[in-house]
Order: sequence, then structure tokens, then C-alpha cells
Amino acid sequence: MSKRDYYDVLGLSKGASKDEIRKAYRKLSKKYHPDLNKEPGAEEKFKEVTEAFEVLSDDTKKANYDQFGHADPNQGFGGFGGGGDGFGFEDIFSTFFGGGGSRRRDPNAPRKGDDLQYSMTIDFMEAVFGKEMEIEIPKEETCETCDGSGAKKGTSPTTCTHCGGSGQISITQNTPLGQMVNRRTCPHCQGTGKIIPEKCTTCHGKGRVTKNKKIKVTIPEGVDDGQQLRISGQGEAGHNGGPAGDLYIVFRVRPHEKFIREEDDIYLELGLTFPQAALGDEIEVPTVHGNVNLKIPAGTQTGTRFRLRGKGVKNVHGRGIGDQHVVVKVMTPKKMTEKQKELMREFAAIGGDSPDEYSSSLFDKIKRTIKGD
Ligand SMILES: [Zn+2]
Ligand SMILES: [Zn+2]
Repeated sequence: MSKRDYYDVLGLSKGASKDEIRKAYRKLSKKYHPDLNKEPGAEEKFKEVTEAFEVLSDDTKKANYDQFGHADPNQGFGGFGGGGDGFGFEDIFSTFFGGGGSRRRDPNAPRKGDDLQYSMTIDFMEAVFGKEMEIEIPKEETCETCDGSGAKKGTSPTTCTHCGGSGQISITQNTPLGQMVNRRTCPHCQGTGKIIPEKCTTCHGKGRVTKNKKIKVTIPEGVDDGQQLRISGQGEAGHNGGPAGDLYIVFRVRPHEKFIREEDDIYLELGLTFPQAALGDEIEVPTVHGNVNLKIPAGTQTGTRFRLRGKGVKNVHGRGIGDQHVVVKVMTPKKMTEKQKELMREFAAIGGDSPDEYSSSLFDKIKRTIKGD
């Protein structure tokens, strides 16, 4: 059977946008869905539409199809999987049909294994500088004893006679509106299409076993909280010889006791004594790259921000390096000796600049901060 052009199937012309493809699919899949449309040929139409959408909504597959047409044998109707672009078949299904629809697919066709997600908590500095780590995650692998067949050594599974290996059975009912055909998962083989007379003792007939697998993870330098890394082929094993799924690692970064990170910049609050702020000083400030010297000019106000260029985090995508911002907080002395108080009173009596000047300059600073410097 020669295949129709996928764009024709969806009633679109070549170069249709993602949105147009999506809309056309929504419309047609609803029109031909076998649960809603009992006309002969509707199910075939539905499959055709779904297959066209599967390919055209996936950037890679679409590019391939646009270039080579139907030539690629790997583009067959391999099951509903996820469409590209975060708009998977399941989404559409639950949008239109309230979920829970029966899936129709050849149970013996190769299918990609499920993707796995793993949340990995790492230290602040590990995120800043990256690190090689090994994690252990439980995942489903093909059973080695039976090579995935689920049958005991020396035996092999047989095709289910009730469904003829399709995993689905049809129940025909006569109703006033005509014949209704309902498809159900075959209860004899649970939809697998196979019967295992003698089960493998390792996997108990599942053909798969859950194992703890050690996986090397390279934490990328500069990774931030919530970002994820895809390790291809490290998800669950595929079915019927299909490829393995992918492993997604989501990084959770523990906060640091001193540094606060905002994207590639780091913020540090620095307390200064009143004399340091008033007279100026040269002090050592911690950064993620080690201590650096910082000159505090005389008359530094609380809230002043100093920028240490290039002392932040290397961008995870290789786009430069951030800065460190040192935000000054002038500490008013809480406990003073009699002598200190005396000197302070003397200082006040001599006068000089008035509190008004302090407050107005602080106000300016706040205004500037709000405006973003
Ligand atoms: Zn069956
Ligand atoms: Zn086994």
C-alpha cells in the first residue's frame, strides 16, 4: 500500500506552521476517532492522521520527512509515543476524550523504553564548578535469563489464540443504531498477544527485571537549581528490541551559607564596622574563587554595592562568566565601653555633617537601586 503524503493527510500544504499542524490534527483526530466515529474506514483514517501528526510534530522526524519523504523505514506507525514539542498524544487524548481511551497498537512492535527522571541534590560549589559523580538508580532492564521473552529456558512463548496475537479482542453488539464494535484488551494475554506456558524463574514472565544501575553523571559547570540534563539511552530498556528511553537528571542545588546566586552572579552581604565605613579600609572578601582584596573608600554607606568582575559563576552554556556583588551593611555598635561612648559623644559634639546629609544620600542610593543603577 502506498502511503499518502502526510501534509495531504492533514489537509495542509508543505511549510505549514506547527500551530496549523496541531490544529489540523486536533480536528481530524476528533473526527475519525474510533470511539466517536463508527463508519467503516474511520479507524484507518484515524491511524493515518495520527501517524502524520507524529512525524510532522517532531522536529527531527519532520526534517527527515521533508527531505526524504516516506523513504525512511523507521517512520512506520510505531505507536503513539510522545509527539514532539511537549504536545504528546496523551495530552490530546485527555483534552478530547477525557482520558482513559484504549490504545491500539501492535503489542509486538518495537517500542522505545520509558524516560526516567531523577532528582539530584548537589552542593552549591558542585553546581558552580561542576563535578563527576556516580549515581545509582533502579531501572527496568531486559531479563538476561530469558533474553526478554519471559519464558523459561528451553521454552518459548506462543501466540495467543484468543486474539491472534493482536492483544485486542472485538466484541460486536447489535443496537438499535446498528452494530457497535467494541475493542478490549485481550484478557487471556493481558494485551501482550503472547501466552507463556512456562515462566522464566528470574523475571516471573515479565521479561524485564528492575536493577540498580550505576551511572556516571557529569555535573555541568555552572548548572543552576532546577536545570535538567538529558542522558540519552539511560532510561528504561526498550520493548521488543526498541531503543532504551532517556534519563533526565534535574539538579537541586543546596543554598550556601554566605553566597546567594542569581543566574551567573553571586551576592554577598558584608558587614562593616562604623569606623571601617567612615574611615575606609582594605579588607579580604570571600568569593567562590577564593579571597580577594577589596578597598572600602572612606564614607561608605550601608547598601553600597561593589562589583567584583568575573568573580561569579561560569555560564553553563559557555556564555561568559558572572560577577560577584558585595553589598555593604554598616553595623551600628550595640555594646560600647564607657571610653567609647565618651569619644562618640565628643565626635557628635564636634559635629560636621548633619544626619540630614546621611539620609539624603542614602535616599539617593535607594532611588538609584530601584532604577537599577
Ligand atoms: Zn490475547
Ligand atoms: Zn526472564
